[in-house]
Amino acid sequence: MGLPVTMGPPVTATPTGPRIDLLLRGGTLVDGTGAAARPADLAVSDGRVTVLPPGAAVSAAETLDVTGRVVTPGFIDVHTHSDALAAPLGGGTHTDGDALDELRLAPLLQGVTTEIGGNCGSSLFPSLPERLPELAEHLRVSFGLGPVPPAEDFDAFAAGQRPELRRNHLASLVGHGTLRAGVMGFEDRPPRPEELAAMCELLDRALTQGAAGLSTGLIYPPGVYSDTEEIVALAKVAARHGKPYVTHLRDEMSQVEKALEEALEIAVRSGAPLQVSHHKTAGRYAWGATLRTLPRLEQARAEGVDVLCDVYPYTAGSTVLHAMLPPWTSEGGVAALLERLRSPEVRDRIREDIANGVDGWENTVGNGGWDLISVAAAPARRAAEGGRIADLAAERGADPVDYVCDLLLDSQGEVTIISHSMREDDVRRVLASPLSMIGSDGVPKPGRPHPRWAGSFARVLGHYGRREGLLPLELAVHKMTGLPAERFRLDGRGVLRDGAVADLVVLDPEAVLDGATFEQPLLPPVGVETVLVAGRVAVRDGRPTSARAGEVVRVR
Ligand SMILES: [Zn+2]
Repeated sequence: MGLPVTMGPPVTATPTGPRIDLLLRGGTLVDGTGAAARPADLAVSDGRVTVLPPGAAVSAAETLDVTGRVVTPGFIDVHTHSDALAAPLGGGTHTDGDALDELRLAPLLQGVTTEIGGNCGSSLFPSLPERLPELAEHLRVSFGLGPVPPAEDFDAFAAGQRPELRRNHLASLVGHGTLRAGVMGFEDRPPRPEELAAMCELLDRALTQGAAGLSTGLIYPPGVYSDTEEIVALAKVAARHGKPYVTHLRDEMSQVEKALEEALEIAVRSGAPLQVSHHKTAGRYAWGATLRTLPRLEQARAEGVDVLCDVYPYTAGSTVLHAMLPPWTSEGGVAALLERLRSPEVRDRIREDIANGVDGWENTVGNGGWDLISVAAAPARRAAEGGRIADLAAERGADPVDYVCDLLLDSQGEVTIISHSMREDDVRRVLASPLSMIGSDGVPKPGRPHPRWAGSFARVLGHYGRREGLLPLELAVHKMTGLPAERFRLDGRGVLRDGAVADLVVLDPEAVLDGATFEQPLLPPVGVETVLVAGRVAVRDGRPTSARAGEVVRVR
């Protein structure tokens, strides 16, 4: 597991050449580069691909007739929060195995063969050894899957992934929030010089071991406590490795343009490629702002900044409930947060801050309202899942802030929400931008998770691609394969050419469509028929096989 991916020798496509394990006959190849679809056969041998002319005179151990179907590279989900799904789960008291397995399956069933985790500042590593216990509490709340032991470095993280649970591949960024908490805890102050040096050293080690880049989540504690200077210093380390700085901006609502300027400044000063995560302009004060943010990104590119972004095809977001509260509530970590929320004075101050805003804080509720936020996962109050917070509070005759504080206390902080905050025209504009690739931002937890985890890729292909005509098939596939592979340096993946890793998808272009809804978020898509992971058939006729060929991908 975890060996660097290198291009294998091409398979000689003659009857006397090496054995062909699987032959895909009669299909149309959409190779991931964005080039026009063309007829081709594909041979898979020892986990590698050879592209053959249609009808090539070869024989194989197994032949699959894919006439009328499109063959694409396996999809790369550049933005997931699935890190803990196949990690050792410790106690995991409130999670049951079947629910977790359904969550693990969802990306594979829509053709995702590689996920990139560690996004929004939250990864399962790295940390100084003495900070590991406190960090474990933070990760329990961030990932919402019960106890998750953090790892000291990327190697330990990779070793902790359970191969018997990995159906697809996983790469990971270094989350700045984890890194910061792993060095200096949850303090709302700049790092001391020796703390910043320790963060740079842990980051450098993880990137050397194969982490894919650096991510921040600047609305979340402890990332929200950091200033631009701190991030520039860390992004310089990523730049030395030629790896991207990936950011959940400090604000995606009324101050989104200012937050974008900070990200661009960090990219310019550090020299790191910039990836703007799940680009959106949310909340009524920012609706329509993609008319300015996308041209701004294109202008920066023209000036030499290597900036790209990712996007999911929905007008609702999803995150942890405590991110709806002002940053000072989380200072000191999870235990301190929960202790504070008991106090009526604290609750009053939260109400005031939401009403008046706090400088430098995104304030989702102030930009929208509790009626636009529903509960996705609340292990201690399953009945609340799917309900809107304004309604749930009204049912109990409670003020929404009191309801939220009680819900967080009941659930020990582990509550996830869905926020209906975006406008359709903004989502379409980002999807259609030449700078965007697809990332689900999936938050896989039992309950009523956002449908993006199980639906994003099929929705882009079927709903926005075929039905709405927003993207031609070749371009939609490029945004899920070749473009992300290039951005995150996943060599040998993302483009189907001779010697590439045999991660691939066979789909029916006339049928492919997402099935997941807000009511039934894990309904599988239709039209995704076969998925190969590292040359093994992981999905056949739309159903999973017993194959467990996923590995931890190391980026060099
Ligand atoms: Zn995020």
